[in-house]
Amino acid sequence: MESKSPASIVDGNGLHVVMFPWLALGHFIPFFELSKRIAQRGHRISFVSTPRNILRLPKLPPHLAPLIDFVKLPFPHHPNLPENAEATIDVPLHMVKHLKKAYDNLEGPLARFLESSTPDWLIHDFAPHWLPPIAAKLGIPCAFFSILQASTLGFFGPISVLLGVDDPRSEPEHFTVPPKWVPFPSNIAFRLHEVIRNSDNFSRDSDVPDFYRCGSVVQGCDVVAVRNYRDYEPQWFRLLEEELYKKPVFPVGILPRAEQDGGDEKDEKWVPIREWLEKQGKGSVVYIALGSEAPLSKEEVTELALGLELSEFPFFWVLRKPPGSAKDDSELLPDGFEERVKGRGVVCMTWAPQVRILAHPSVGVFLTHCGWGSVIEALEFGLPLVLLPLYIDQGLNSRVFEQKKIGVEIARDEGDGSFTRNSVAETLRLVMVDEQGEIYRAKAREMKEIFGDKDLHDRQAGEFVQYLEEHRSPTKAS
Ligand code: UDP
Repeated sequence: MESKSPASIVDGNGLHVVMFPWLALGHFIPFFELSKRIAQRGHRISFVSTPRNILRLPKLPPHLAPLIDFVKLPFPHHPNLPENAEATIDVPLHMVKHLKKAYDNLEGPLARFLESSTPDWLIHDFAPHWLPPIAAKLGIPCAFFSILQASTLGFFGPISVLLGVDDPRSEPEHFTVPPKWVPFPSNIAFRLHEVIRNSDNFSRDSDVPDFYRCGSVVQGCDVVAVRNYRDYEPQWFRLLEEELYKKPVFPVGILPRAEQDGGDEKDEKWVPIREWLEKQGKGSVVYIALGSEAPLSKEEVTELALGLELSEFPFFWVLRKPPGSAKDDSELLPDGFEERVKGRGVVCMTWAPQVRILAHPSVGVFLTHCGWGSVIEALEFGLPLVLLPLYIDQGLNSRVFEQKKIGVEIARDEGDGSFTRNSVAETLRLVMVDEQGEIYRAKAREMKEIFGDKDLHDRQAGEFVQYLEEHRSPTKAS
């Protein structure tokens, strides 16, 4: 991206932009990447988060470091949260509701920071439903940055549906079914449990449902930014802008992460992984990671493990322990599994340098939970997908990926949504080696051209930043 940095700062025309992401890694990393694109054009960023989450961010490139300040707001703990839990990665899914309650207590400290710093723009996530009135009172324009795709927002529906007809705080049940708005392309069949699996967690997190949170911020913001490029889903950008939100909706590109985010070449975590990958054949390894939030049940872990074993491919599996599972990690996996797959498979129970792994030529396929952040990372390297959506937007994403022929979903039981070891192994074989699977491999290679085109994505981010420059708060522009 073309850098205007010194000029804007020196001539005093630079913006001051406050970034305020939700406390999930899949959120604060794209917010961090967007901050870098804004700073690249010479603007100053205050990146507001909790101390522990700020520590989790990757290093800034030296030329941007002077432009990005980290503002640490002490995390207001909740009695039901473990010590030091400041992100969804720190707590099992059923505790995210407490995290949201604690997060809502950042309202006062954030309001005070905004009052004292009077930024030109505030870019926020879906969660702070209390933020629009504060920003309006202070005359600060707001942008809602969605890490979800435009099609997912489209599925959630117009603002009126998101906000609901009843007071959602007293009637959370109202939201335990998907919104009445279901305009998802009729040629994409989807099953209910895939869309809204774990709907209790999705809709009843804290006392304020996520739909209501999202509706409030969409209603209160001046502009919406979406982590995607326009040509991927043009009809959905149009639908949001012209019919559902009736306000500008900008793609900001996919905001790819730097490969070095996973540690440098000599990083002690990366070295043994790289050595193992180097021993495997080109394109032979299945990489499995199911995101930072939703864990698998014990039964699902078993079927997935036995499916990997049946497939006979080498694999690298990042496994998050299900809440309440045995303390001893080995008890989580089927009897004798580790012994039987020794040398052929690695189970990693800690954080993995995902981007580095996906970039390695030995990896041939990504078995994913369909989190948009992870899929972006796979497509950058042209990897086809085996799809195992777990909750929220993932079922919808999965449908779109199937429609685009970049992946195949592991078949689930229509009734209870369970899957079997055989369906895991069959889907892996189809996407990895079968002749009929060539279509997915070819399509993924084709996507690499677009997902790997950094200039294209930086240009889209640049158009959004230009909008911010042209629509700064009127009181400050004078
Ligand atoms: N991630 C990682 N190492 C891991 C697991 C996840 O670096 O062991 C990163 C991954 O590269 C991606 C993000 O965490 O950037 C997960 O985002 P995504 O949208 O895929 O899923 P979420 O965790 O939000 O469900």
